[in-house]
Amino acid sequence: MSPELPIQFTPLEDGVRRLLGGGMPTVDHTHRVFANTDLAMSSIKMVGFDMDYTLAIYNKGPMEQLQYDLTVKRLVEHMGYPTEIQDLVYDPTFIVRGLTVDKRTGTLFKMDSQGQVTRCFRGKDLVPPEEYVPFYRNASSRISSEDFASLDTLFAMPEACLYANLVEHFTKKHSRGENVDPLALAHGHETANLGSINTWKLFHDVRKSIDDIHRDGSLKSIIMADLSRYIVVDEGLPLTLHKLRSSGKRLFLLTNSYWQYTNAVMSYLLNEHLREYPSWRGYFDIVIVGGRKPGFFAEREPFLEVDQLSDSPRIHGEVSSGVFDKTKVYQHGNMETFEQMCGAYGPEILYVGDHIFGDILRSKKDSGWRTCHIVEELEDEIRCVLEGKDTAARLAVIDEQRHNTADAIGEHRAVLSLLDLALTEAPMRKLSDEEVKGLETAHRRLKKEIDVAKRALRKLDDDVHALQDEIDMTFNPYWGRLLKTRNELSRFGSQIRSYADTYTSRVSNFLQYSPMHLYRAPRDLMTHDYVLADSRGLTNVRRPEEPGDLNP
Ligand code: IMP
Ligand code: MG
Repeated sequence: MSPELPIQFTPLEDGVRRLLGGGMPTVDHTHRVFANTDLAMSSIKMVGFDMDYTLAIYNKGPMEQLQYDLTVKRLVEHMGYPTEIQDLVYDPTFIVRGLTVDKRTGTLFKMDSQGQVTRCFRGKDLVPPEEYVPFYRNASSRISSEDFASLDTLFAMPEACLYANLVEHFTKKHSRGENVDPLALAHGHETANLGSINTWKLFHDVRKSIDDIHRDGSLKSIIMADLSRYIVVDEGLPLTLHKLRSSGKRLFLLTNSYWQYTNAVMSYLLNEHLREYPSWRGYFDIVIVGGRKPGFFAEREPFLEVDQLSDSPRIHGEVSSGVFDKTKVYQHGNMETFEQMCGAYGPEILYVGDHIFGDILRSKKDSGWRTCHIVEELEDEIRCVLEGKDTAARLAVIDEQRHNTADAIGEHRAVLSLLDLALTEAPMRKLSDEEVKGLETAHRRLKKEIDVAKRALRKLDDDVHALQDEIDMTFNPYWGRLLKTRNELSRFGSQIRSYADTYTSRVSNFLQYSPMHLYRAPRDLMTHDYVLADSRGLTNVRRPEEPGDLNP
């Protein structure tokens, strides 16, 4: 039972309530802001936003298909790939964030929070655990080496799917004895793959092609020509930004995109939505483009002023002191100069971004800024959790039965050892025949019962895994849940928990809270705390993973 509040709030009169547009504010689970550590918005002076996949939500289908198609085109036209690869189809469900590519083998895998590989595909073929478990026994310690690439942002989804398609395509070709140029195995370290084609070269060809389409304007010019096809307008965004500003916070934009594209996207998202803000510029006190994150947080690049007409930085336009001018646009720059020029430091700044490494981890580690990670997949993940509640409840019952059975086996094995010991010592202890017989009967019976329990435990293990897989597969048929692997957090889930102070599916979710809200994290407890809390009957102490913690 919750303790009583120290004051009783008076309910609003019906008439007053009606004037507020119906009900009291409620936040549905999919749109909550979740906290890993307490975040008091009253202590935040500045709120910064990343643009792509943070303020600008891309229309997943068209956007990913466009990147995929342009990359294929470039591979064919510039890198000598055969035209038949144009027939390989983009599968938007095949890739999820947080996966890792092994360039040596052409495999994609998902890891848990301990760095253990839990699922692995080569091409679109599931690799069985007996193959990948010994191979990746210590993968986590090597994951930062050049052999691996992490899929941290939604920009990486099409290239990873294309890579898997191409691995599959060329491997099949090779096994039919056909020509696999340009991927025939080369000499040197590139041949360190286990397959039949040069999966290392393939990765770098795909990477270079997608990098080119981002940099040379071919991708962005198509998006800018048809913004409504590629970008979703979030109607709640203008009011969210306005509300933060009204509470006295200064807002800034810090994006890796350059001015021309930034201006086009931000105008589309924000111009003329609210009367007070005819231009998107009105929402932001500071605009930084081409921010080169994560370098922005650790390096000392100077700020340059951008010529807003020509989209190029002004020569002699280096800015390293004074204050930021709201009418100007800055490029590059660094965190230290930024803090000096705006007079806010470390934990007074909240940065909201979608890239776990470039936006969240680096800003937190290098600058001590508070962070909010935008995880747009969270809406689907939470919806699936809620829809699968019955299966999850069934799973919880079987899982408890499994743990109890395992505990009982353990306890009775200890008794069996005592019986063993007693029988061994029987001559020394001069036990009577009857006593020895009693011990032997008990020993036989207990051994049999333990065997029965072990068989039951194996069945319970299978049932639990089958149910866990059934739940997982409702999230994604290839990879299961984004933030979990069975009972563990996934590597991506554990990164969010370690580096993001808060996380939510979209920026406009902040609209539902006061701009001075205290986002409260579940209490930071160790396992012994839970056990002690359980034994003291403190039912409000929950582990963060449990569904009940969807409440902030
Ligand atoms: P932000 O998320 O607003 O910081 O900006 C992301 C920017 O990075 C966008 O302009 C993207 O086009 C760009 N980008 C994403 N992936 C790549 C890449 O692989 N190579 C070059 N630029 C990229
Ligand atoms: Mg981004």
